[in-house]
Amino acid sequence: MEIAKAMQSKLTSKAIILLIVSAILFMYQESPAQKKRSKTARPAPVDVKPIMPEIAYKVMMSKPSTHYLEVEMSVHWAQMPEKVELKMPVWTPGSYLVREFARHVMDFSAKNTVGIDLLWQKTNKNTWQIDTKSNKEIVVTYRVYANELTVRTNELNDEHAFWNSSALLLFVKDQLSAPSNVTVIPFGNWKVATGLPRVEGQTNTFRAANFDILYDSPFEVSDYTEIAFVVEGKPHRYVITGEGNYDPKKIASDTAKIVKEAYNIFGELPYEDYTFILNLRGGGGLEHLNSTALQFNRFGFKPKSRYEGFLGLVAHEYFHAFNVKRIKPDALGPFDYENENYTKLLWVAEGGTEYYSNLLLRRAGLITESDFLNGRASGIQQLQARPGRLEMSLEESSFDAWIKYYRPDENAVNNQISYYDKGEIVNMMLDLTIRNSSGGSKSLDDVMRHLYNEFYKKGKNYTPGDFQLTAEMRAGKSLDGFFANYVRGTAEIDYNNIVSGIGLQLNEKQNNSNRPYIGADFAEENGRLTIRSIPADTPAFEQGLNTGDQIVAIDGHRASQNFVQSYVNDKRPGDKITFTIFRFEKLRELPFTLGGNMRKDFSFSSLAEPTELQKKLYRDYLNGELK
Ligand SMILES: [Zn+2]
Repeated sequence: MEIAKAMQSKLTSKAIILLIVSAILFMYQESPAQKKRSKTARPAPVDVKPIMPEIAYKVMMSKPSTHYLEVEMSVHWAQMPEKVELKMPVWTPGSYLVREFARHVMDFSAKNTVGIDLLWQKTNKNTWQIDTKSNKEIVVTYRVYANELTVRTNELNDEHAFWNSSALLLFVKDQLSAPSNVTVIPFGNWKVATGLPRVEGQTNTFRAANFDILYDSPFEVSDYTEIAFVVEGKPHRYVITGEGNYDPKKIASDTAKIVKEAYNIFGELPYEDYTFILNLRGGGGLEHLNSTALQFNRFGFKPKSRYEGFLGLVAHEYFHAFNVKRIKPDALGPFDYENENYTKLLWVAEGGTEYYSNLLLRRAGLITESDFLNGRASGIQQLQARPGRLEMSLEESSFDAWIKYYRPDENAVNNQISYYDKGEIVNMMLDLTIRNSSGGSKSLDDVMRHLYNEFYKKGKNYTPGDFQLTAEMRAGKSLDGFFANYVRGTAEIDYNNIVSGIGLQLNEKQNNSNRPYIGADFAEENGRLTIRSIPADTPAFEQGLNTGDQIVAIDGHRASQNFVQSYVNDKRPGDKITFTIFRFEKLRELPFTLGGNMRKDFSFSSLAEPTELQKKLYRDYLNGELK
C-alpha cells in the first residue's frame, strides 16, 4: 500500500525512493524461495535498483449470457521496458495439467493512458509483447471466454461468475513478486467473494501482495447465500451459489468441527479468514491459500452416506490449507506458471491429505470407526485389483501426474496407480508404523507438525529425503525398507504385519471364484455396449477382447449391459460363449471361455486376542474399542 500510493502520486524525493527500495529489498528477503526465482529474472543494470510495477485489474461481466469476462489491466512501472511481455499461466496450482488458459483470450488490445494504440504481437502461445513507446503506464484490455465449470476453470452465465485468477489475469514477465489490485464490477446485484483482503474505502477492490497469492485466490460473484462461523477466533464462511437440499446450520457446525480437528494437530490456523466457495453443480474441489473452490451435486446432501461424501470433500480441501499450501513439497511454490512443476511428493500432498480427510472426520465424530475402517479396506481392495500397482511406484505416479494422472487412457488400470488412492493407504501404513514402533508416543501428526514448524514456518519447502527423515525421527528407526518398497518401489504391501500393531487384521476372501467372469469393464451409451478397459490377467485380456470393441450380441442375443450380466451370471466358469463384435468397422465372432472371478474382498477385523498395548494403540488411533 505504501509503495502504491507513493508511485501513484509520483513523488520523487530521495527519502521516498529510499523507502521504496528498502521495502522492496525487505520483500525480496522475505522468502528464500522467491530469491531462488528472482535468479531467473533478467538482470537489471548494476546501477539501477529494480522497482516493481504497480498493477491494477478491472474484471467486468456486462453480458453474463455471452460467457465473456472482460478484463482491463493497467501496468504502471517506473522501469517499463521498451517491449513489455504479458503472460497467461498455462496451469493452475493444485491441478497438475497444462491447460493452456491463453486459448480463451480474445480481442486483446493495448493503449497508453491517453488512448493511443500500442503495437503488440504474440511471441509464443501465452505471451503478448507490447511496444510501450516509452510510456510508463499502459492499459491492456481483453476478453476471456468462460463457459467451463470446473474447479480449475472459469464460468460466467446468468447465474454467476466463477474464476481462477490464473486462468484470467495476465502477469508481467519476471514480476511475479509485484502486488496488484483487482476491482470487480459485478453484474446486477451480485456480490463478490474471494479470499483476498478488501482495499478499504473502495467498492469490490481487493489486494494481492504478489502473484502467488493472486493466483491462489479464486472469485465467486453471484447472489450467493453466505453462512458464517468462527473457529478459534477466526472468521470462516461458506459462499453458496445454487439451491439444494443442504442444511446450512449443520454444514457450518460440522465444518467447524473439521477445522477444529486440524487446529488440534497444528495448534493454530494459518490465515486471517477462510472462505469455502461452494457451487451446487459439477463436482470436485481445489485448494487455495485461505479459500477453497468446491462443487457438489445440489441434491447430494442426503442421505447421510452422501452427506459424508460432501464432508470428506470439505475436509480434504480444507486440510490442504496446511498440507501443500503451507507444508510445501520441493517444487510446489513459488510456482513456474509456464511449465510443468515436477515433484515426487504428490503422494504426501494428495494421498496424505486424503488420509487426513477421513481421519479428521473420524476424530470429529462425523463418521464411525467402522465407516473409517470399511472405507480404508475398500481402498485396499481397489488397489489390490489394479495390475498397475506392480508397474508404477508412488514417486513415479507423483512425478508423471502431468502426463498420466490427468490424462488416463484405457491402459491406465494396467500401468498406473493413483497417488491419491495408494498414497492414502501408504500414509495410513506409515502412520501405523510410527505408532507401533514408538509404542504409541508418536504418529503421523508429529511428522506433519514438524514439517509445519521446521519447514513452512522457516520459509522452506521439503524434499522426499526430508519427509523420510522426519518420519524416521518419529518412528525412532530407519524406514528405508518401507520407503524403498512402498514409496519408491512397487512391492506388495505387507498389510497384516503393520495393522496387527493396533490389534487389527486384514482379511482377504476370494468369495467369487465360482462366479463366471469376463473381466472387461463395459460402457453403454445410446444403446451401444463397448469395452472401456481391460485389466491384465483377466479372461478378456487373455482371450483377445480389445478396448473399443462394440459387443453386438452374445450367443446370438442382442447385448446390453443388463443382458450380459444376467446371461453370464446363469453360466459357470469354463462355459463357452460366442461374442459377436464390431472391431473397427468389421463384424466378427469371437469364441470365449468364461473364467472365475478371482478378485478378492477385503475387510478389517480385530485380532482374536489383542494385547493391552494393541488395545491402547487402537483406542489412540480411532477413539474406540477393539471389538
Ligand atoms: Zn487434494
